[in-house]
Amino acid sequence: MLGVTTEHVPFLCPRGHRLGPGRVIVGWSPCGCPPCLERGRGLRGHRTYLCLACKDEHVTTMCYLPPHLPGADAAHRWP
Ligand SMILES: [Zn+2]
Ligand SMILES: [Zn+2]
Repeated sequence: MLGVTTEHVPFLCPRGHRLGPGRVIVGWSPCGCPPCLERGRGLRGHRTYLCLACKDEHVTTMCYLPPHLPGADAAHRWP
């Protein structure tokens, strides 16, 4: 896991658009999947990236960081 917190967006959307400044809406989605649980308290969720290039094409493409990985035991731990 990266130890640096940066606000730049480090990936392309699934349709190949670069998610750069002004090209993405950044949000937050609380979650309890394993990658989120590894993070500290208050950080248990995904940063979400809505691709505006896709939105221009009337397609909703939402990316998650860290990637959402529903684990086999995640449901049991979810309060
Ligand atoms: Zn896109
Ligand atoms: Zn998740």
